[in-house]
Amino acid sequence: MKYKRILVATDLMEGAEVILKKASELAKQMKADLHILHVVEPLPGYGYAFIGSAEIEVELVKEAKSQLNKLAKKYEVDTKHRHVEIGPTKVEITRIAEDFDADLIIVGSHGHSGFGALLGSTANAVVHNAKCDVLTVRLKEE
Ligand code: AMP
Repeated sequence: MKYKRILVATDLMEGAEVILKKASELAKQMKADLHILHVVEPLPGYGYAFIGSAEIEVELVKEAKSQLNKLAKKYEVDTKHRHVEIGPTKVEITRIAEDFDADLIIVGSHGHSGFGALLGSTANAVVHNAKCDVLTVRLKEE
């Protein structure tokens, strides 16, 4: 079994490198293309009303691109395979995966239990909505 196009979704938070390192190793083993995605959630409408215009969003995207580029460069992700999108995270991850016909999505999972599990997480939503396989990388709790 080999994957050809892998999408790793990153929140650019603590644990991002753990996920990307695994994704990069897997992609190398399988000689697969590795894509990396970070999603910027749009600010709620009232946020703009008070603070003013979409400039904040532009700044958020700029900052996200800079962080994503650093991470992607370290793990040798092709510049054309780096994606920053604006929208609902869960929707964007599966949309981008379908866009370039990814056959594997990799996301982190904190392995919440109890209420966390009931509330659901990004990983949960992606597992349920993706049209391809999903690998969840278990992140250690602090
Ligand atoms: P969470 O549900 O917030 O615990 O996130 C679980 C995993 O979903 C993270 O480890 C990432 O792989 C992915 N993820 C969460 N937020 C984002 C985001 N804004 N952009 C891309 N991937 C994300």
